[in-house]
Amino acid sequence: MLERLRIVLIGTSHSGNIGGVARAMHNMGLADLALVAPRCQVIDQESISRASGADHLLHSASVSETLDSAVADCTLVAGASARSRTLPWPMLSPRQLADRLPAECEADSARVALVFGREDSGLTNDELHRCHAHIHIPVNADFSSLNLASAVQVIAYECRMKWLEQPSAPTADAPDSTLPPEQRPVSHADLERYFTHLEQTLTTIGFHDPDKPRQLMARLRRLYLRARPEALELNILRGVLTATEKAATDRASRPPRP
Ligand code: SAH
Repeated sequence: MLERLRIVLIGTSHSGNIGGVARAMHNMGLADLALVAPRCQVIDQESISRASGADHLLHSASVSETLDSAVADCTLVAGASARSRTLPWPMLSPRQLADRLPAECEADSARVALVFGREDSGLTNDELHRCHAHIHIPVNADFSSLNLASAVQVIAYECRMKWLEQPSAPTADAPDSTLPPEQRPVSHADLERYFTHLEQTLTTIGFHDPDKPRQLMARLRRLYLRARPEALELNILRGVLTATEKAATDRASRPPRP
């Protein structure tokens, strides 16, 4: 289960914090670190010193330009946020997130991304809208922002506690591999392709005006992300969009009635 968890840091500005995160991860038995557009050196004296012996995680970390590419293969994406946002999203405590992990991590292809924001400004709304759920560490409401590595530490600890409760790890030929392909969880990349298609179709049929978005796409994202469509269901949804676009184009090209 722990090997299916990825810690994703967006726009980190202090290399010491990346080192602190590597240390927290290694303490808790996590190894998959992804950095999105870091605003500092990843490997320098400060990060190596704060990693305190876990600097192999700094060397093996992936670095990408966008959140989408860092989590493209992930089947559950949860964003850690210190603040509540205007459009409320499904909210989990670290313990509630951890409770979901054994089921979420069952499939061989399962990958869970835990996404953390910038030291100065956290995660943007756009980044949070790409998550299935938000994780909030229930701290003192008057002083709610933890240091980045401390936030990773608290959430990773809950994940580890849940892992320790599990009976011994499943063998290679146990349940997961029996999940038929159409029921496998879909990846972030599949969902993002669907959202792009959805926005395009809604614009074509005049339901959505990208110049006056009124949070339509954010609300639809929240709905579909909450529903957790499986591969077959996502195919059906894509088929509906393709047929809708075809009907709209056919109608537009039909000669006017006499
Ligand atoms: N100043 C920022 C917080 C930055 S802390 C803000 O106001 O949003 C850096 C990151 O640590 C945050 O983006 C978040 O991912 C995580 N974090 C800090 N405190 C948290 C909390 N109470 N609950 C969940 N995540 C938290």
